Amino acid sequence: MVLVYSDDKKLMLELLNKAGELAKNLGKKVNAVVIGKNDNLAQEYLTYGADNVIVVETDLKDFKVEEYTEYLEKTIKETGAETILIGSNKNGKELASRLAGKLNAGCVIDVNNVYVKDKKLVTERIVYSGNAIAVEQFNSKPEIVTIPPKVFEPHPGGANPKGEVVKKKFNVEKYASKILKIQEMQTGDVNVEDAEIIVSCGRGFKNKDDIKLAEELADVLKGKTIGCSRPIAADLKWLSEDHWIGLSGHKVKPKLYIAAGISGQIQHIAGMRESGIIVAINKDPEALIFKSADYGIVGDLYEVLPKLTAAVKEKTQ
Ligand SMILES: Cc1cc2nc3c(=O)[nH]c(=O)nc-3n(C[C@H](O)[C@H](O)[C@H](O)COP(=O)(O)OP(=O)(O)OC[C@H]3O[C@@H](n4cnc5c(N)ncnc54)[C@H](O)[C@@H]3O)c2cc1C
Repeated sequence: MVLVYSDDKKLMLELLNKAGELAKNLGKKVNAVVIGKNDNLAQEYLTYGADNVIVVETDLKDFKVEEYTEYLEKTIKETGAETILIGSNKNGKELASRLAGKLNAGCVIDVNNVYVKDKKLVTERIVYSGNAIAVEQFNSKPEIVTIPPKVFEPHPGGANPKGEVVKKKFNVEKYASKILKIQEMQTGDVNVEDAEIIVSCGRGFKNKDDIKLAEELADVLKGKTIGCSRPIAADLKWLSEDHWIGLSGHKVKPKLYIAAGISGQIQHIAGMRESGIIVAINKDPEALIFKSADYGIVGDLYEVLPKLTAAVKEKTQ
């Protein structure tokens, strides 16, 4: 059995698609896990590829890692699931590591690919800031893998009429930790992670006010989303950290990513390499960014951006 869990619905739908492919290759079934009472979610997971859904009933209102680990541990032991896919967000990573400790299982965090080769589960993940890919194979079971958002696409496979929703209740220990308060992060109105078009600014911009050149292009492209490299957000503070893209910033996957005045250091590339089409504007023909770009414009961004904005305007108006 391939068991899938995430506390993030969107991520769960992405994982279910991949789980279906793995299950087919392993000759197994996909079971989605819902922790808490949520029948609508269970039905949706059946539509997105789960063969069955296990609903673990609990009165806990918020995610608590100790209890959730025990719920999953008990589910895995009872069902005999051998391959466990967990959504790689903050909660998922902690859950997966604790689970691996309890089950004495192998665990690979943040993979960007997972497949079956010679009947064994193999994972790939980016290491050394994107300079290498570690290919790892599981030699024991259960095997636990965490997958970040946007690595795989969700696939609505249609309702699964034979799929069952099985309800379970487990007695778990009362752990000493308590959640005192949950504070929503203040993210403003910028959401680079979900943007379809991003115009991104780097150190090639000389002044904060010049960022309006990127905003004007984003506006005519109907993207309206501005991204940036680390120095613009972290050192110069010309844009808030919501815009910061890269290894230590946000990971993005827009259809179009325009990098203006960005050199293309590996830590920046790590956050935007999955973009559909990458356009780079840089006055240095040797800039690294051109190696990752689909289209490169060698030129001064102060000349290129207004020309691009005018050209898009002309085409679209
Ligand atoms: C642990 C670690 C984590 C990091 N995480 C991140 C991260 O998440 N995101 C990130 O972005 N960086 C990150 N960095 C920093 C990263 O290594 C680079 O320093 C940074 O990405 C460089 O930003 P930049 O390309 O804007 O600036 P620069 O490297 O200074 O490049 C500016 C570019 O602009 C070009 N240019 C200058 N003037 C013009 C002009 N008028 N027209 C056109 N082009 C022009 C130049 O040719 C140059 O290529 C990290 C570093 C470390 C060590």
